[in-house]
Amino acid sequence: MNHRAALVVFSGGQDSTTCLFWAKQRFERVVALSFVYGQKHQHEVDMAREIAHIAEVEFHLMDASFIARLSDNSLTNSALKMDEAKPADTFPNTFVPGRNLFFLAMAAVFAREHGISHLVTGVSQTDFSGYPDCRDAFIKSMNVTLNLAMDEQFVVHTPLMWIDKAQTWALADELGVLDLVRYKTLTCYNGVVGDGCGHCPACKLRREGLEQYLQSKKK
Ligand code: ZN
Repeated sequence: MNHRAALVVFSGGQDSTTCLFWAKQRFERVVALSFVYGQKHQHEVDMAREIAHIAEVEFHLMDASFIARLSDNSLTNSALKMDEAKPADTFPNTFVPGRNLFFLAMAAVFAREHGISHLVTGVSQTDFSGYPDCRDAFIKSMNVTLNLAMDEQFVVHTPLMWIDKAQTWALADELGVLDLVRYKTLTCYNGVVGDGCGHCPACKLRREGLEQYLQSKKK
């Protein structure tokens, strides 16, 4: 296994793009792996490919469209109206059950085939929705599971786990890619690149973080 190589679970959004450049700073070889999982906004994949090209990293695309057939959620089902606020007792319907579980499992097998033991994912426990597969406990447990499943020593890196959106913007700036992340990435649940639609939960979170960061920079 090559300890100087890392595989980034890559969607082309703000978080995983920041992670891609974070990995580039630390590893000699970085590979980006994207998934088609039945998401409504398929041009997300084209954006991811373009960003990987700009970053000069290897780009691979894996089919995980079975995820959309397993459960109903508003990221894969166009007929379902997206929750713009978090319901009191459950997750918003933007939650795709098992998504990170499947992504990480597939990424680990892919990484193993390529002799890579470091995996990087942009999940964050501070994410407003509280998706369980973005939490630190899940990632640590998954890391152990992957190691046991393949008798390997994978290391799952989560550079954004404990930081908020403003700090994620700060990190992008530190890495010299603030503008690239701002104008090229797609985070919006309505599929609008860059600053996005402005009103979906992902856009709100992203914009508030950006405003907070730019404000703090002025001081
Ligand atoms: Zn949006």
